[in-house]
Amino acid sequence: MPAQIIDGKEFSARIRQQVRAGVDRRLAAGLRAPGLAVILVGDDPASQIYVRNKRKACAESGILSVSHDLPADTTQTELLAMIDRLNDDPTVDGILVQLPLPPHIDDETVIERIRADKDVDGFHPYNIGRLTVRMPTMRPCTPHGVMRLLDGIGEKYKGRHAVVVGASNHVGRPMALELLLAGATITVCHRFTRDTAEHVRQADILVVAAGKPGLIKGEWIREGATVIDVGINRLPDGSLCGDVEYEPAAARAAWITPVPGGVGPMTVAVLMENTLHACVTHHS
Ligand code: NAD
Repeated sequence: MPAQIIDGKEFSARIRQQVRAGVDRRLAAGLRAPGLAVILVGDDPASQIYVRNKRKACAESGILSVSHDLPADTTQTELLAMIDRLNDDPTVDGILVQLPLPPHIDDETVIERIRADKDVDGFHPYNIGRLTVRMPTMRPCTPHGVMRLLDGIGEKYKGRHAVVVGASNHVGRPMALELLLAGATITVCHRFTRDTAEHVRQADILVVAAGKPGLIKGEWIREGATVIDVGINRLPDGSLCGDVEYEPAAARAAWITPVPGGVGPMTVAVLMENTLHACVTHHS
């Protein structure tokens, strides 16, 4: 039987509605709307699209987004000074710096400068550390969005083998930590893994975030597995695809996410949720 499709648009719409209701309750109580500062350095076309989607989601959720579009030649010192100002601004609950930054700016230095309780992306080493020691606070948006999808289809985690392909700081690593926290047994594959296919064949839950179209062959998928494709790749014809060979994988899996319309919308919805959470935390 072909896999059931995990509809990220539907799950994310529900999260955004909950955020909207939370914001409306604040406004009705005479409190201010949550504020998100969105910093974009340079004019990378993909980043511009991501930032536009995040600003649109803010407007729909009742979150006040303030845009800071900086030229590509902004220095690291100038960017850090802006973050210091936003850290001290009591109307700003969340600070988002769209990655990647231009090569003359060090991503990790910039992320570490954001106050951990305003780090709504959940990338700050403090927030990753909290997740590592089972005390999550601000959770990285994409991995947490994946968990919300898995929860939504009734995944139980305990006694299940989860294989994560990709080990980046912002997706693969925190993804493995989330799955471990939920009680699954974890294998992480990365570019130095000798036989990724052999690991993938053993996955009850497979999460792929490598950024390599077609990396995961359909025939590797275990019958009845749950397949989450985080990858977003633009093909020469302009269309988008994930990292998993979709059709043959869907013929074997029990559940699968499409690309687009799977994990992508969840990332943005969790960002809205994190911003509301940061705002509520600042007030209480
Ligand atoms: P990255 O380049 O930082 O990391 C890629 C990871 O994949 C690395 O750990 C690398 O070791 C591993 N890898 C590369 N080739 C491999 C191979 N042949 N076998 C096994 N592992 C391999 O990328 P990232 O930022 O983690 O993003 C990964 C993908 O997810 C990209 O396509 C990105 O666009 C997408 N993404 C999607 C969302 C979303 O909301 N859906 C959010 C973030 C990233």
